[in-house]
Amino acid sequence: MNNTTPRTRFAPSPTGEPHVGNIRTAIFAWLFAKANNGSFIIRIEDTDQARLVEGAIDSILQSLSWLGINWDEGPDKGGKYGPYMQSERQKLGIYSRAVETLLKNGKAYYCSCSSERLDQLRKTQSKAGKPPGYDGYCRNKDEKQVLDESVQQVVRFAMPQLGVTKVTDTIRGNIEFENSLIDDFVILKSDGFPTYHLANVVDDNAMEISHVIRAEEWLPSLPRHINLYKALELEPPIFAHVPIILASDRTKLSKRHGATSIKEFRSNGYLPSAMLNFLCLLGWSLDDKTEIFSEKELINYFSIERVSKSSAVFDNQKLEWMNGYYIRESDISDLISNLLNYWDDFPVETFDIEPTTAKLEAVVPLIQDRIKTLQEAGPMINFLFSKGISYDAELLIQKKMDCKSTIGALNETLRVIEKTDPFKASNIEDSLRLLADRLSIKPGQLFGTLRIATTGQRVSPPLFESLEIIGKDTTIESINLAVQKLNTYGDVN
Ligand code: GLU
Repeated sequence: MNNTTPRTRFAPSPTGEPHVGNIRTAIFAWLFAKANNGSFIIRIEDTDQARLVEGAIDSILQSLSWLGINWDEGPDKGGKYGPYMQSERQKLGIYSRAVETLLKNGKAYYCSCSSERLDQLRKTQSKAGKPPGYDGYCRNKDEKQVLDESVQQVVRFAMPQLGVTKVTDTIRGNIEFENSLIDDFVILKSDGFPTYHLANVVDDNAMEISHVIRAEEWLPSLPRHINLYKALELEPPIFAHVPIILASDRTKLSKRHGATSIKEFRSNGYLPSAMLNFLCLLGWSLDDKTEIFSEKELINYFSIERVSKSSAVFDNQKLEWMNGYYIRESDISDLISNLLNYWDDFPVETFDIEPTTAKLEAVVPLIQDRIKTLQEAGPMINFLFSKGISYDAELLIQKKMDCKSTIGALNETLRVIEKTDPFKASNIEDSLRLLADRLSIKPGQLFGTLRIATTGQRVSPPLFESLEIIGKDTTIESINLAVQKLNTYGDVN
């Protein structure tokens, strides 16, 4: 199996929005397959019926597609090793046949221990300071007796009780596990579904998976899987357990650290290309300096040997920096199409006018260097896509100015704007600088007021270019409105 082209898989359980950690692991499996002209497979591990979450499979597939990860076989695509959902495979008797083989060879046994007995056992073990685990109570009982005892049996794997299980992990090297420390785990539950351990081993073999690339948290399951392969007389695949992802406080990355799913990062305005690049560097590196990789370069350079053993740290600031870099480096047309794809993710109140390519072509170059996420573009460009801009009149009044002097400055601005022809950024700037001089106020004071009057924002794209895009008529309209606002404000205050 190992001489042919590799087959790797991502085997998620559909229990919710996929965590970036799971997706990063999927990316490594995908890159390994692509880097070696192999196939990447998606298999849905849905045997734990109690934990299924509706819509989770779609979320998983959408997250991968958004990142540009394509799979060769999977639940939506089929393939010659299907079905690709374990619940469907279960109906075909794939797992029960394996259970029968194990029972027949004495490598598994029925267990009728009640949950009360198992609870009691756990309590006793914990009191005695022993690790929890099944004590083998039914292992030596007569099978008929066990079957007669209860209708709710499970099947357990008879782990070797002596010796060690040795395995070589591509990332971690040679590992040994003491067999006596591993209990006889359940392989078939009372609901007739296999457990993760059994289904995973049976399917990786049936689907001819050559390399199992998965998260470090599955390392404790490895000796169980190796012994299952042996008991079923199957050749195990090559294993590589990739490091877990920690938050910057060195605890497991979780909700309390902010976004943890691809969907959240996507709606926070990250680009798929930046996200893919960033995730690949969580545990893998080419050298100690290169940070920016296109998808093509990743496929070219990725090697499992350069995946590190130590945990990776998810640095939000670095992600933000990288996203800003990708935004700055984007072609305007790509950035516009990313913005358009993102449009519905802006908070509902951001825009009330549909975007047009013409307006975006005018404004996007002005903000490209100023935003680190697509989300940040919202307040910067909403003046172009809103029926009316809203702001507090107070914001119009700059430091060392008052309501009256601001109204005076705005009225003068109106006169200057009316005469500015052509209404181009450089002309606008020249006339407004002259005006500030004439009014003996700082240019910054005048421009600050105008920025609020025309965009509603303290921070906006460059003012004169923005005014040119807004156009003379709308600029005049906005200034008039600002004057009205200040008049009312002055009356009240
Ligand atoms: N279903 C397991 C998970 O949700 C798969 C683990 C493995 O890759 O073996 O992560």
